[in-house]
Amino acid sequence: PDPERDRLLQAYEWSAKFYHFLLKNTEHGTAAMEYLRSRNFSDKMIDQFQIGYAPDRWDTLQQFLEKRQFDLAEMERGGLLSVRGEGKGFIDRFRGRIMFPIASRTGKVIAFAGRILGDGQPKYLNSPDTKLFNKSRVLYNLHQSKASIRKTRQIVLLEGYGDVISAWESGVLNGVATMGTSLTENHVAMMKNLADEIVLSYDGDRAGQAAAIKAIPMLEEAGFRVKVAVLPSGLDPDEFVSRYGGDRFREQVIESAVSSVKFKLIYLKKNHILLEEDGKIAYVKEALQIIASLHSSTEREVYLREIASELELSYDSLKQDCNLLRASMQ
Ligand code: ATP
Ligand code: MN
Ligand code: MN
Ligand code: MN
Repeated sequence: PDPERDRLLQAYEWSAKFYHFLLKNTEHGTAAMEYLRSRNFSDKMIDQFQIGYAPDRWDTLQQFLEKRQFDLAEMERGGLLSVRGEGKGFIDRFRGRIMFPIASRTGKVIAFAGRILGDGQPKYLNSPDTKLFNKSRVLYNLHQSKASIRKTRQIVLLEGYGDVISAWESGVLNGVATMGTSLTENHVAMMKNLADEIVLSYDGDRAGQAAAIKAIPMLEEAGFRVKVAVLPSGLDPDEFVSRYGGDRFREQVIESAVSSVKFKLIYLKKNHILLEEDGKIAYVKEALQIIASLHSSTEREVYLREIASELELSYDSLKQDCNLLRASMQ
C-alpha cells in the first residue's frame, strides 16, 4: 500500500474530470472547443477520450487541488504542478493546452498530454515520469482497445493521440499509440501478450516512414506478423480521416496494409531513380538483400516476379542473383 500513489490517482482522476468540464461547460473552453471543431473532433470523441482544456492561467488547477486538501508539493512530484520560477509555491504545469488524459491498462488516468492551441512550442507537453507513469511503458488507449485487440489478435499502432481518436471514430477500435514516435522493447513486450499481428499506421511523412522501418525488425524479432498501412503524400491518419473520411481510412489504409517486405521495397524505391541504369541496378541489389533473407521460396518468388515485371527484367536472372546471395548468406 502506497498512500501517496493512491492520492495521486485520485488527483489525476479529478483533474481529468475538471479539465473536461472546463472545456465543455465554461467560457474558458470556448476557444479550445472551436479549435477542436476546426479539426473535426466530434462531441462523441471528446467524451469518449475525456478530452479537456487547461486554461491559460497560473493557478486554475492549483486552486482546485488546494480546495480538495491535496498537498501541493506532492502534486508537484506527481507532475500536475510545477515549482514557481522565483519565490516559493507552485503553478499549474499545463496552461493554455488541450488535455488528453493518458490511462493505465486498467483505465485509471496516470498522466496527461497537453497540446498547444494552434502553433507554438512545444506542441505537446507530457507529464513527467512519476510514481504512476513511465512513458516508455504506456500505450495510449490500450484500456479502451484491449477488448477489440483480444478478439482480433491485432493491434494498429499509430503515432499520435489525434490519430488514435480518428481511427476509433472510423471504426478502428484496436488502435494504440506510443507517447511520441519511438517504440521501446517495453512496448513490444506489452503487446506480445495481447496480439499476433501489428499494423503500423505511422505518419506518411519522412519521419513516420523512417520510424516504421525501424519498428519492423523489433516487432518481427518478437514474433509478430507485421503489416504497414501506407498513407499518401505526407498525411497522417488524423489528416487522412479529416480529408477523405473514416470509411476510406478503414478500407483503403488499414485493411489495405501491405506486408512488411512490400513496404521495405516501396521505401527503398523512393531512394533510387529507376529511370537510370545505375539507379535500377542499385535498387535491385538492395531489394535482393531483403528478398533473399525470406525463408519461404513462395514469398521470394512473389516479390521477384513483381520486381521483374515492374523493371522489365527476366525473372530467371533475378532468381539466379537471389540464390547466389542466399548461398553467400549461409
Ligand atoms: P497534431 O495532429 O496535434 O498536430 P500529431 O500527433 O500529428 O499532432 P506529430 O508531430 O506527428 O503530432 O507527432 C507525433 C506524436 O509525437 C505526437 O502525437 C506526440 O505524441 C509526440 N510529439 C510530437 N511533438 C512533441 C513534443 N514537442 N513533445 C512531446 N511529444 C511530442
Ligand atoms: Mn509526425
Ligand atoms: Mn502526425
Ligand atoms: Mn496530426
